[in-house]
Amino acid sequence: MSTSFDFDNDSHRRFDPLRNTWVLCSPHRTNRPWQGQQEKPSTTTLPTYGSECYLCPGNMRAQGDRNPVYDSTYVFENDFAAVKVEQPDFPLTQPNQEDIEAGDKSSLLLRAEGVRGKCYVICFNPAHNTTLAELLAHALLPVISAWKSIYSSLAQRAAQGEPFRYVQIFENKGDTMGCSNPHPHGQVWCTDSIPTEPSTELTNMTAYKTQHGTCLLCDYAALESSAEGKPRVVLENEDWIVVCEWWATWPFQTLLLPKRHIPSLLDLTEEETASFADILSRLTCRYDNLFETSFPYSMGIHQAPLKGKGTACEEDGCDIAHLHVHFYPPLLRSATVRKFLVGFEMMGEVQRDLTPEMAAARLRACDEVHYKNKVVEGENEQ
Ligand SMILES: [Zn+2]
Ligand SMILES: [Zn+2]
Ligand SMILES: [Zn+2]
Repeated sequence: MSTSFDFDNDSHRRFDPLRNTWVLCSPHRTNRPWQGQQEKPSTTTLPTYGSECYLCPGNMRAQGDRNPVYDSTYVFENDFAAVKVEQPDFPLTQPNQEDIEAGDKSSLLLRAEGVRGKCYVICFNPAHNTTLAELLAHALLPVISAWKSIYSSLAQRAAQGEPFRYVQIFENKGDTMGCSNPHPHGQVWCTDSIPTEPSTELTNMTAYKTQHGTCLLCDYAALESSAEGKPRVVLENEDWIVVCEWWATWPFQTLLLPKRHIPSLLDLTEEETASFADILSRLTCRYDNLFETSFPYSMGIHQAPLKGKGTACEEDGCDIAHLHVHFYPPLLRSATVRKFLVGFEMMGEVQRDLTPEMAAARLRACDEVHYKNKVVEGENEQ
């Protein structure tokens, strides 16, 4: 038995400073035999136009609206929005000392607040069968520009006093992630409160800045891009870095972030927008190539909350925020074997076998020519 601790072999916990939580890492289990679920890989090839698809150009949606014959990105308000603007007020329940002393604890234990907001759907492109991974960087520019313009218009409305505080941009890809329609699309949910995940991160980033005087994610990006051998770096360009972060939960989870302090999408220069499209396109392509499948994931952008009317930027957390993108893919060891967060992970803490360093090495080894295009090239040669 070795006497020195081996992070590639010995069980350990890693600290997640963004969420103030821990992840259990058990690298020696990567060799255990697998007797669990083996699903058949999906072999269906989709057409470029789906006559039944409610997101395809020119088609009718569930509530009777018809999509225009769009030829780039297309944004509309979600027909089945999770939050809406028009509803009665319900301010946050505050503990009522009189009631509590009289024995009624409901104001302590049954707290709530009303949530107002708006939900949008963004069709990334008109082709029913072409995901972000199959698009080259320039074709991602309209998607980024749609994200920016939704954020910008909601920010303007928030500054005028409308009930918008946080813009959550995300994409759920693949039926294993519960995505009901294969047409490449994402969503934007805007709420008048800051949701738990970004709120927790902002709290921890504020505490870090108070204690150390610097931005947690600026420090982390600098640490990873200067680490010896860059063991967790998957991809890098002048402005951006992608890492399988030290504290990642999902086997091939990545964090994509700008190297300089950029609070929101609106603070990107033209060059940074182009290099963002470049790295997004290369990362999603590598994901597809890893198991030669349309790689499922939940992807989301965290950035600055919206500044309210007449409030200071400091109290809104606008400049503490450091724009970043999380990719949470569920796949574990093939196109069909996925990880589940169950058992110890629900009851104790999240756990992983493959270390982030092993995952980063696997993603670094992937090609940046999409596997579907390689097949086509091979066929042409014959
Ligand atoms: Zn479609
Ligand atoms: Zn920063
Ligand atoms: Zn985040």
